[in-house]
Amino acid sequence: MTVPAQRSLWAETAEPAPALTPPEGASEAEVAIVGGGYTGLSTALALAERGVAVTVLEAEAPGAGASGANGGQVIPGLRHYVSDLVREYGEATGRRLHAQGSSDADVTFALIQRHGIRCDAERTGWIQVADNPSALEEGRQRHRAWAERGAPVRWLSAEEVRAMTGAEGYLGGWLDERGGTVQPLSLARGLARAAMAAGARVQAPARVTAIRPDGRDWRLETATGSVRARRVLIATNGQGGWPGLPTTVMPVWSFQTATDPLSPATDVLPGLQAVSDTRRVLRYWRRDRDGRLVVGGKGTIRAPRGPRSFGTVERMKGRLYPPLAHAAPAYWWGGRVSVTMDRLPRLFELAEGVHAIIQCNGKGVAWCTASGPILAEMLTGADPRDLAVVPPTPLRPIPLHPFRTVYAAVGSLYLRARDALERAA
Ligand SMILES: Cc1cc2nc3c(=O)[nH]c(=O)nc-3n(C[C@H](O)[C@H](O)[C@H](O)COP(=O)(O)OP(=O)(O)OC[C@H]3O[C@@H](n4cnc5c(N)ncnc54)[C@H](O)[C@@H]3O)c2cc1C
Repeated sequence: MTVPAQRSLWAETAEPAPALTPPEGASEAEVAIVGGGYTGLSTALALAERGVAVTVLEAEAPGAGASGANGGQVIPGLRHYVSDLVREYGEATGRRLHAQGSSDADVTFALIQRHGIRCDAERTGWIQVADNPSALEEGRQRHRAWAERGAPVRWLSAEEVRAMTGAEGYLGGWLDERGGTVQPLSLARGLARAAMAAGARVQAPARVTAIRPDGRDWRLETATGSVRARRVLIATNGQGGWPGLPTTVMPVWSFQTATDPLSPATDVLPGLQAVSDTRRVLRYWRRDRDGRLVVGGKGTIRAPRGPRSFGTVERMKGRLYPPLAHAAPAYWWGGRVSVTMDRLPRLFELAEGVHAIIQCNGKGVAWCTASGPILAEMLTGADPRDLAVVPPTPLRPIPLHPFRTVYAAVGSLYLRARDALERAA
């Protein structure tokens, strides 16, 4: 029997995919959205709820990108402090972005509930743990920053972290009760269903191969048909849809594995929180609805080629939970995280009426899902400078992008070395 290159837990346990068809002939919409991940689908849902005729064109299927592969950890906010955002974007926009982050988990869980999306949503909280003194100090600062704003956060001693995670070796951490977990692919499929129920047209497979001017509108071409629209949002996570867009992000593989269901008596995450640490090469873990342990971390430069590609993640699992060190993974899969150099979102104004949005950076379940209503306002005429979105700019490629795999390899070695030095200090 051949072993598959990937065996995704989410693909095997998700709610069924909605039945979709590709575009045929020429059709029209007020707004066309390229990409059916959380960003595109949540925006389509919000537009349809406002009575706007919107079509989503998705290359493969809803959740085919990061939205169907991620860790399903609902983590509130951007990773930047309010002071960073104000320095970068000015007082008003910086504060709006921060406020948006403060409520994005609330908005996401409320949206799931309002639309009855079946995605195993659990509001059990998110824990950030620290395994060295400088990470502990960073955690204290983050905890303090949220606590000062009245967020439901709690500092955890080393002993509390051990009791809540079952993992050894952490010096402390903090719990954010706004967070939790979802089945990520079910969330993407549920958003597609909700958008369609509200009146959006979601079409797949429909890879957009060109976007051309058509009178005062735009025509989006696919292999089977085209859509004409006044406004276009490219929500492909920087992976395509417009010339040069892929040069604005570094695609970095992150790999995950999952065990078989653990015994109900296990001390591994008995409270079912989502956990990540503060390492530059991030480690994250959680359990799924059936009690499996899902761990994620550094991937390889290229796509996985079977369980052997997942050695780093498996060793990490073994260090966190020695009794599980020798259990072969039951599932193994990867996803490509689109990273910008400053880890901040991008909004590119590509032409009159055409925007591209990139808001992944490895932390977008809540942010992207909650961004739909805001992007819908922008697409119905609001000035983005008045909204909780980063200010629009022309397309900005990362310098020397053709050398991205060299960057990624050297960058990863450098970041791991810094992680190791901090733990040794
Ligand atoms: C492995 C991994 C783990 C992660 N873990 C977490 C986590 O635990 N918590 C968290 O908050 N965030 C996490 N993230 C980040 C999160 O998944 C993303 O921020 C979020 O899913 C981005 O959603 P999106 O809609 O912007 O992009 P995507 O979900 O990538 O959607 C883009 C869509 O565009 C489509 N597309 C591309 N080109 C075209 C084209 N030419 N025409 C039509 N369609 C096209 C793709 O098929 C895809 O479906 C993780 C990401 C990865 C990859």
